[in-house]
Amino acid sequence: MHDELEELYQQVILEHSKRPRNFGEITEGAVHVHGDNPSCGDEIDLHVKFGPDGLIEDLKFTGQGCAISQASASLMTLKLKGKPRQEALEMARAFSNLVTADGADAPRMLGDLRLFQGVRKFPQRVKCAMLAWRAFEQAQGEENAPQA
Ligand code: ZN
Repeated sequence: MHDELEELYQQVILEHSKRPRNFGEITEGAVHVHGDNPSCGDEIDLHVKFGPDGLIEDLKFTGQGCAISQASASLMTLKLKGKPRQEALEMARAFSNLVTADGADAPRMLGDLRLFQGVRKFPQRVKCAMLAWRAFEQAQGEENAPQA
């Protein structure tokens, strides 16, 4: 990757961490998941509203922590809103590969999430980038669990 490109990616990450999209809470009809990454001090509260038609109707988050964790959450909410759940889970897997696997080409479906590819060079930041996605996977699991 060229240095200028990497710099551009860093700017996008910084911009999202300063002005996160979909920042807030969904108070009704949403699954709420708290995730944290003690090794870095990142925290996120994710609210996901699943629609009756299997679509992710809405998602919002609040949180604090490093730029990578917050920008990843911000970009994730933009990416997953309105997507079918199955596609969202595939995206979560693809993103996990993106930030950990060596040499693999990033799937096109990830779009601008591919700018996190540089994280794989910094293994201690992988948990930062994955925090929001792990929270999403957990929210999806809770939605599927039988009602008590
Ligand atoms: Zn972090």
